Formats: sequence, C-alpha cells, structure tokens
Amino acid sequence: MEVPCVIVDRSAGEQTRRRLAAAGLLDRAYDIDADAASVYLPVTDATAVPDSLRVGTHAVEPRDQQTTVAQLLGYHPSFERIGEIALLHEDDPETAAAIADAIMAADLPVTAVLNRRSPIEGTHRVRRWDRLAGGSTVTTHREYGYAYTVDLATAYFSPRLATERRRVTTQISAGEHVFDMFAGVGPYAIPAADRGADVVAADINPAATALLTENAARNQVDVAVYTADVRTLTDRFTGWADRVIMNLPHTAGEFLSEALEVAADGAILHYYDFQPRSDPFAPAVETIRAALPADVTLEVLETREVRSYSPEQVNICVDVQVRS
Ligand code: SAM
Repeated sequence: MEVPCVIVDRSAGEQTRRRLAAAGLLDRAYDIDADAASVYLPVTDATAVPDSLRVGTHAVEPRDQQTTVAQLLGYHPSFERIGEIALLHEDDPETAAAIADAIMAADLPVTAVLNRRSPIEGTHRVRRWDRLAGGSTVTTHREYGYAYTVDLATAYFSPRLATERRRVTTQISAGEHVFDMFAGVGPYAIPAADRGADVVAADINPAATALLTENAARNQVDVAVYTADVRTLTDRFTGWADRVIMNLPHTAGEFLSEALEVAADGAILHYYDFQPRSDPFAPAVETIRAALPADVTLEVLETREVRSYSPEQVNICVDVQVRS
C-alpha cells in the first residue's frame, strides 16, 4: 500500500525513526521498509514533518504484529513495569536512553521511563530516579483485583511483593483487628479491610498515607490511617491487635517492643527482615525471642523466603504467634 513516508539514507534511519517517534509522527500501522540505499518511515501526517526531511510515498505492508522493544533494539533489555511506567537499572546513560526510546516506540502501554539513580533509601524507603521519557511518576498498579495509585518518586512501592502480600492477607478473617505498622500506599491494609478486618495503618511518610487514603476510597474500604512514627501511636492500641504486619525489613527489629505492646494474647506477627542466604531464619527468630517479655511465649508458625535481595541476602518473613 502506498503511504506517505519519510525517506532517508540508511545511515540516518535509526536516528530519524527516533525523531519521528518522539514527535508522534511515526505511523505504527505500517511496517518500516528499507532498500540498499534508503529507509522508508511511514508517517501519520506528511505536512507535519520538518522541512529538513524528504517526504514521498512508498509501498509498505500494513503491520500484522506488534513492535517489540527487542525488535527495535536487536536484543532483549531488562526492565520492569509498574502500571504504565517502565523502570530501568542501567548505569550507562547512552544505553539507558536507547532502551527508553525503544520502549516508548514499541507497542507497549508505557507513558514514562525511569532509570534507577539510587538504592531504596532513607526513612521513607524511596528511590531517586532519572526521568528518561514521559513525565509523571504516578501510575496505577493492579494486584489481585485491587487498584493502587502509586507515586514512585514519593512513596515506597514494589510489585515484587504481590505474592507475599496475598499470602498474608488471605489469612485474615472478618472482624480481626489488623495493625499495619509500615503501611505504605496500602497493599496489605486494603485487602485486609476488604476481608472485613478492622485495620489500623500507620506510615511516617505523608505522601504514602495520602496515597493510602486515596487507595482505600478507590477500593471502597475503610482503613484508619495514621501519618505518624508508629512508635508514637502504639500506646493508644495496647493489646488491640490480632495481627501485626511489620514490613520494614531493614529495621523491623527496632519496633518489636511496640509490636508486642499492640499485640493481643494469641496475636500473629508477620516480621520481615533481610538475612544471609546461608542461615536466613534463625537470627530473625532469635531477635524476636530476645524482645519478648519473660511471661510471653512464641510459636513460629511459618518461615518464608520472600525474594532475593542481593547476592548474599534474602528478604524473609517469619510468622510467629505470641501468648502470655
Ligand atoms: N507495607 C508497604 C508495602 O508493602 O508496600 C510499605 C513497606 S515500606 C518497605 C516501609 C514503610 O515504612 C515506608 O512507607 C516508610 O515510610 C514507613 N516507615 C518507616 N519508618 C516508619 C516509622 N517509624 N513509623 C511508621 N512508618 C515508618
């Protein structure tokens, strides 16, 4: 089929393709064609093409399959997606830019590409990002029927914990009292409330609790949200909780006395930690045991490797039941 195309020398083909894609002029309904001398890039609006580029017509095939990032790059780059945002972990800026261009040009529902600039850091457990394409760091993540607004620049969120969150939240019964000490944007608290639990959710990061409040409304559940250092809250909930979620792996150990303060007799604690692969559970159980008052006993219900964290360490969860 003859369609308007930008016709360029082969040596300028990729650069021009990117330029047209960035301007929204590349017509993805047709295949790009090439011969020994030229590349033919179908365009959506010949009149909008800059004067410096030659426009003609050329016979190209309608596209019968979607363009993938790998087709555009010639290799499979590694990237992750949260909602409509693609996330790279690429040290070389030129490689990162090429991958970002290909992601935006491919047939993917992606509106922004971010490259990791820092590890997850600080009290709020947020990463810094370089924005390579698109603008917003806000997107919607869908998980087991729930929709979460997340903002990767201001509040912690990881889709990699979805299975673990599901494991914990499917244990929750209607009427239970659940205390989520480090709630983030609500991926434990919201399913817990949806199962009929009374949920108290705390986070020290106001951006996280603003999103949690929005997400509770979005998913039509009630959660009591507190923007606070959880240590300042626990005396209001002494002995209240049937279940305490402690998803702050670096430092959950420092909050065990507060967790035990809110725990009712027979409560279950979900304690997250990073531990060496060689012996992931014993040190965490020992930390919990050491925090127990003399009259409280502990039963380990389950130990789980949640995911790999680094070559040496794994993210674990230890579920324990405490009785006095
Ligand atoms: N549970 C959420 C999830 O799975 O997405 C968030 C987990 S994130 C690893 C830990 C959260 O704890 C962060 O949102 C951080 O702001 C919050 N946090 C850190 N220190 C805190 C404290 N002392 N009191 C309350 N929240 C705290």
